[in-house]
Amino acid sequence: MFEQIKLDYGFDALEPYIDTETMATHYGKHHAAYTANLNKFADQAGKTGESIEKILAEADKTKDIGLRTGLRNNGGGYYNHNLYFMEITPGGSKKPTGDLAKKIDDTFGSFSSLKEELTSLAMGQFGSGWAWLSKAQDGSLFTSKSDNQDNPISLQTGHTPIMCIDVWEHAYYLKYKNLRASYIEALWNVINWDIVGKLYEG
Ligand code: MN
Repeated sequence: MFEQIKLDYGFDALEPYIDTETMATHYGKHHAAYTANLNKFADQAGKTGESIEKILAEADKTKDIGLRTGLRNNGGGYYNHNLYFMEITPGGSKKPTGDLAKKIDDTFGSFSSLKEELTSLAMGQFGSGWAWLSKAQDGSLFTSKSDNQDNPISLQTGHTPIMCIDVWEHAYYLKYKNLRASYIEALWNVINWDIVGKLYEG
């Protein structure tokens, strides 16, 4: 059985950047639904007990198109939101430190350049989707964007996501309406870079 990550902070903990109602709906309704549907599809596909990474990487091998789509969309929705709600924990470093900070400087020139690149990808995603910071097995960093609930694992890039930006309208519309840029700008204030750093080193 897949379970949503437990939040160690309240729905109101990210105010004013992410509002309480958005958090309650996003975590309590959207993420809960992805998780329940993933469990249903995993059961139907005989994949109960498999890791989410394996399910996502192999989703395209499922012959039945309904099951295949269900696993890809709901498996992605489950995995992506676990990362998102983990990384927007209040507190922690407001910018990367240690090995991750050094790698970001080496790869992108500076932390602000990385933020600009991720913001540009998130703004450029047409319709629902995500922007990603991922690492390869050798520690290299990559940025990308994806449609719907796809991610670098389901897209079989060989990279592991360590940070993401949700640009589905459900992530920001209650507070920011059509102003996706304002949401992304606010989001930078609540990324816990200690957690992203641990995922980079992990
Ligand atoms: Mn979302």
